[in-house]
Amino acid sequence: MPAYFDTHAHYFDRKFAELPGGASALLHDPDFRRTVSGIINAGTNLENSRIAVQMAKEYPLMYAAVGIHPEDAQGMPQGTPLDPDTTLSALWDWVSDAERRRQDKIVAIGEIGLDYYWEPMDKPLQKAFFEGQLEIAERVGLPVLIHDREAHGDTFETVLKYPGVRGVFHGYSGSAEMAKELVKRGWFIAFGGTVTFKNAHRVREVAASVPLDHLLLETDCPYMAPVPHRGKINHSGLIPHIAEMLAELHGVSPEEISRVTAQNTQRLFFP
Ligand SMILES: [Zn+2]
Repeated sequence: MPAYFDTHAHYFDRKFAELPGGASALLHDPDFRRTVSGIINAGTNLENSRIAVQMAKEYPLMYAAVGIHPEDAQGMPQGTPLDPDTTLSALWDWVSDAERRRQDKIVAIGEIGLDYYWEPMDKPLQKAFFEGQLEIAERVGLPVLIHDREAHGDTFETVLKYPGVRGVFHGYSGSAEMAKELVKRGWFIAFGGTVTFKNAHRVREVAASVPLDHLLLETDCPYMAPVPHRGKINHSGLIPHIAEMLAELHGVSPEEISRVTAQNTQRLFFP
């Protein structure tokens, strides 16, 4: 069976503690290691970004992305909103040092973006964090991991303001037209477990339309487990279910999906 690179996971999440032996048992498991060629462990705030880095240093197959997710920026589910100035200057101090980035195995700024699903939303605050981090990514030359939930128009318009930045729209839920415009500008589109969900006809249609050379694989674990594990704790070892669906949609073999997504991962994160 081919191996796959998981470009979006959250191994610091407390949910992994519910598995016997936790995330570490999983990451040491021989079957898991045969299936998974690499993982990007994506932070959603400064604290868990530090844990993402610690884990990346511990596991050779793991890399880290550091950043502030729009929900974390708003202090959700029940906390106080973060201050953009102090938080973003701390992030800048961390990632602007190339040697430290290399030591910390930081390959992207993320997860960042806009989320108009959860109420109440503070659009100006989300925007300040999103734009501030796109600016940091542009200055240091790192790709970004984009979270866009029910905010397609604003997310698209915002990334267009930073033509020097590239990255991936993770867990893509936008239209085929928007995907086409993003691909034209050198962006990548990642699909996870949703593409296997029974009623996700539209996501499958969009996934089939994205050219193979701009497609990436992800799990977003511990959430969004693919069918037939839907509702359970997700992990990168379940990624073949996602790859096999994408293979079917594109009329190619899973080996081909493994090969092209590995190439795309290399191009974007390890140039
Ligand atoms: Zn995520």
